[in-house]
Amino acid sequence: MKTGYALHNCHIIYGDGKKFADTNMTILVNEQGRIHQIEKTSNLVVPSHYESIDLTGNYVMPGLINAHVHLFADGKPFTLSVSEKLLNFAFHHLLDTSIGRRILKKRMKKNAITALHSGVTTMRSVGEFFYKDVELREEIHAHKFVGPNLLTAGYFLSVTGGHGAPYLALVGDSPWEARRNVRINVKHGVDLIKICVTGGVTDAKMVGEAGRLQMTEDEVAAICEEAHKIGIRVAAHVESTEGVRVALKGGVDTIEHGAEMDEEIISLYKCNPRALKGYTALIPTLQADYPSAKLDLSLTKVSETVQENSRLVYDSMLASVRQAVEHGIKMGIGTDAAMPFVTHYDMWRELDHLMRKTSLDSLQVIEKATKTNAEILGIDHLTGTIEMGKRADLIVMDHNPLENIKALSNITMVMVNGQLIKNPNVNKMKEVDDLLDLVWSNE
Ligand SMILES: [Zn+2]
Repeated sequence: MKTGYALHNCHIIYGDGKKFADTNMTILVNEQGRIHQIEKTSNLVVPSHYESIDLTGNYVMPGLINAHVHLFADGKPFTLSVSEKLLNFAFHHLLDTSIGRRILKKRMKKNAITALHSGVTTMRSVGEFFYKDVELREEIHAHKFVGPNLLTAGYFLSVTGGHGAPYLALVGDSPWEARRNVRINVKHGVDLIKICVTGGVTDAKMVGEAGRLQMTEDEVAAICEEAHKIGIRVAAHVESTEGVRVALKGGVDTIEHGAEMDEEIISLYKCNPRALKGYTALIPTLQADYPSAKLDLSLTKVSETVQENSRLVYDSMLASVRQAVEHGIKMGIGTDAAMPFVTHYDMWRELDHLMRKTSLDSLQVIEKATKTNAEILGIDHLTGTIEMGKRADLIVMDHNPLENIKALSNITMVMVNGQLIKNPNVNKMKEVDDLLDLVWSNE
């Protein structure tokens, strides 16, 4: 089914932080979907059965890795300001029915393909319904459709009344119940465990509730021990400083979103004996809160509570991002795609956001979205850089993203595991894009 490819005459950005793009290069991709040679075009003999693709003047870099997405929604703004009774009804009578589950899975598949066509060749999905993420991963593995590399978390692990509970989470109220929930997710084939240590903006009913502590350190530690003993990572949703402390002490591998740090927290990130690899990484998702926090209510249509919680969470998250840069804490990049105003096709906005608000440059944010994310997710032996032996997960652009990061918004070809998508096709949501473009005009 697969064929080999010779990608000729391109500029290569390796994703490893190397300063300049190499020019007039050829990348050979073998039938197994691996990169098996990278050479100056003039020095290379191409196997006759390989398909040659002329990329004169184009830029090739590793496919983006989005470390924090949800597939269940597409980023169109939504509000959860409906009564609990109505939500309960909708869940049981619409979503959790055979037709509801089928529609949901179709949407998730569409969102995964949208992300892939926009250049995201690997997605870490951190919280979905009914293990549909695991099903999609298996279908992609079985070549039922061309999709991104998918890392799946299944249901959140939460506490009674906690973030995502009860519909999107397995609920546990003690270390042993939490361990059981890890085992349930593992039995269903997840790649990682996602836990909610604090509340979140989407389901907070009052200002300040988004960061309220929900899980105890004992519960977090039990979850981490249970996951780590079989080598899988724990990602923690956390939106306050005290939440970050509890999550780090419990031994999580990534802090999702994040909050302002103190000295103890800084040193725990860098050296965390309970984490799988001895450190914890930060995965900020700035775009998820910025529009709701900064744009006028008349434009976003969110409630005042959501706006205020978004502002609190965003300001603290940005402070932590700057601290991570300053103190050399390992930091990747996620977007929280599916949340209001975060689509699956605009990961470049998160990179752009980091460049606007921190000292990071285009080379550094690209490295974070490729190599560093691969390391944090434990897949750097497979993907994340353009390197011989790695999967051919590549994206092609007309313009140089090192000069203008927005070049990433126009991907002309995508290759995932050596499968070439020659004409990527992304359906954009104009009203969302227009609103997001407006965000920076006020600054
Ligand atoms: Zn999320």
